[in-house]
Amino acid sequence: NEIIVSTLNEGEEDIELGLRPQKLANYIGQDKVKETLDIFIESAKMRNQPLDHVLLSGPPGLGKTTLANIISNEMGVNIRVTSGPAIERPGDLAAILTNLNENDVLFIDEIHRLNKSVEEIMYPALEDYALDIIIGKGPSARSIRLDLPKFTLIGATTRAGMLASPLRDRFGVMCNLDFYNAEDLKKIILRSAGIINIQINETGAEEIARRSRGTPRIANRLLKRVRDYAIVKGDGIIDTQTADKALKMLEIDGTGLDKLDRRILNTIIDYYKGGPVGLETLAASIGEEKGTIEDVYEPYLLQIGFINRTPRGRIVTELGYKHVNKAKDENSNQ
Ligand code: ADP
Repeated sequence: NEIIVSTLNEGEEDIELGLRPQKLANYIGQDKVKETLDIFIESAKMRNQPLDHVLLSGPPGLGKTTLANIISNEMGVNIRVTSGPAIERPGDLAAILTNLNENDVLFIDEIHRLNKSVEEIMYPALEDYALDIIIGKGPSARSIRLDLPKFTLIGATTRAGMLASPLRDRFGVMCNLDFYNAEDLKKIILRSAGIINIQINETGAEEIARRSRGTPRIANRLLKRVRDYAIVKGDGIIDTQTADKALKMLEIDGTGLDKLDRRILNTIIDYYKGGPVGLETLAASIGEEKGTIEDVYEPYLLQIGFINRTPRGRIVTELGYKHVNKAKDENSNQ
């Protein structure tokens, strides 16, 4: 079935497969989420029932897909992976559901992007493990109910708020992933360095961790780029200096912001007097997708307090001004 994309392929380098933890015990950080899931997984296993449906929310790269794979591993069941936009028609979902085995995990990434007609056949599937199918047309049309294998839906979304409430209500377990602290990112980097076989010292790992925007996917990506730099330009060992030089070359600043982050700050300051400016307008000025700014860039800038969201739009904070070496003057609207 073409709708189902392969279990692990997300276009990353092959090595990524080795970097992705397979067991809950190897999943670093997010202690609250791990503790919660551990209990529900153990209970489901003891009762020999599928795990309740799980909703994972949080910005991209924080480990939602990884967790879904871990859950299926820990449950000892298969996982089928697809995404909201890939399921176009109710028939697509019906095909996926009827092909599941008892207790399997169905992982739907970007579940907030499911369309309405698909969402509607999802409700009885989640609630009663049943599929209501309409056969025929007009007065002779009738509905038949098809039993489905019991399964666990794991939905991932960058925006839990965008989920229709009837869908949200059908998840028994909801986990929100937060940005990682530098300590956990350091552990992830040290673990990954071991796997990709590059030498790194403590402070080198701390330097990369500090500049990874609280995001494991970015930490791993930066580690690989710093490794390249260390091999070609250095002695093959990652220390603070090598990390700093490599990250500077990649135009990643001391806080981990990249060119686009800084462009967002500078645009709000230079063209909109520090804001407020609407997301739409901002996206057009920068020439970037609105969704990319909202999902990928804004959450971290909010988290570190460089911008704020107000009812009238986004504003740059005092800290944000400082970061791009600009002074908030009487020109600003705030
Ligand atoms: P999401 O689905 O939230 O976008 P992923 O699950 O694809 O994020 O995570 C991106 C990468 O980051 C994974 O391939 C994995 O290597 C790494 N990663 C994520 N979370 C963790 C974690 N808690 N511990 C170790 N590595 C992690």
